Amino acid sequence: MKKVIPIVSERAPAPVFAGGELADTRGRTMHDLRISVTDRCNFRCVYCMPREVFDSQYRFLPHGAILSFEEIARLAGIFVDLGVRKIRLTGGEPLVRRDLQRLVAMLAPLGAELTLTTNGSLLAKQAGALKAAGLQRVTVSLDSLDDATFRAMNDADFPVARVLQAIDVAAAEGLTPVKINTVVKRGVNDQDIVRMAERWRGTGNIVRFIEYMDVGSSNGWRMDDVVPSAEVVRRISARWPLVPADANYEGEVAQRWRYVDGAGEVGVISSVTQAFCATCTRMRLSTEGSLYTCLFAQSGHDLKSLLRAGASDDQIRNEIAAVWQRRADRYSEIRTAETAKERKVEMSYIGG
Ligand code: SAM
Repeated sequence: MKKVIPIVSERAPAPVFAGGELADTRGRTMHDLRISVTDRCNFRCVYCMPREVFDSQYRFLPHGAILSFEEIARLAGIFVDLGVRKIRLTGGEPLVRRDLQRLVAMLAPLGAELTLTTNGSLLAKQAGALKAAGLQRVTVSLDSLDDATFRAMNDADFPVARVLQAIDVAAAEGLTPVKINTVVKRGVNDQDIVRMAERWRGTGNIVRFIEYMDVGSSNGWRMDDVVPSAEVVRRISARWPLVPADANYEGEVAQRWRYVDGAGEVGVISSVTQAFCATCTRMRLSTEGSLYTCLFAQSGHDLKSLLRAGASDDQIRNEIAAVWQRRADRYSEIRTAETAKERKVEMSYIGG
């Protein structure tokens, strides 16, 4: 058998996980796991995978470097043992990974809530199989209802009508409530906020407006491009009054706002103007099996080497527990124009 590589021992010996609730240095527990199943995407959203960087020369991970479904499922089981209650499949674009429903079927029996974030381009075809395999809900990213604006933002000339159709198919399959994620960039799609809200009011689906973030190092982020969530809420409320609603659970990313007239709710995700690091319960597993304790991290912890060197479940569990127990991240609380320029791992690799 190959030698097991001790990935954290250069800093401190890994404490042995003895069960119970796992807490980091700020008392945050581990609740959610985001799994990036591919670093590839068929869109080139200008704020995420700009075409100038992710061009035909860009070297995506070779197949042998990415975790197999069996490896992902094994790790996911260990995370659930450690307290994870919610798993989100993401990427890149998760639906470009072949036979994703096979992975869903392997994860569903773990008993954690199972969801997926997608750009919707391949969802209409796959929604039925994903639901049948055990997927519970989907979040669909959609930045504009205006076809020209949407095509410009996805930079793949993909029409908005096909995403809208995919949302209908997903809802009909019962992957509900469908959540619609809209990243708002000032001067690009902020003119669409009220129209977006109107489109999803009363449908049972929930639109969430995300502040444009300085993830990765390739999107040229500037604070001036951010539309603060408070402004989003103000603009919608001027048309249909909103009141704050309670979080569904501690650590929920989106702040919920309910229409006074009973037409449902909208969400806002304010990672720039109202950092929620204090309640962050998320862990991220990258496409090639590295563990990241923050979306804005500069480096991860290699689990793939452990897996492929023949480590036991107990050894891997202890390793993950040690990483979480040492976790001190609070990037969004300390963000400045300077930190925004730091080299960070790309969102398409780490999983959005
Ligand atoms: N391809 C899938 C999709 O489009 O939903 C999953 C991956 S994508 C990276 C996940 C989410 O991250 C999307 O909703 C996307 O809009 C969001 N995102 C990407 N870059 C962002 C940024 N700089 N600021 C805020 N949200 C961003």
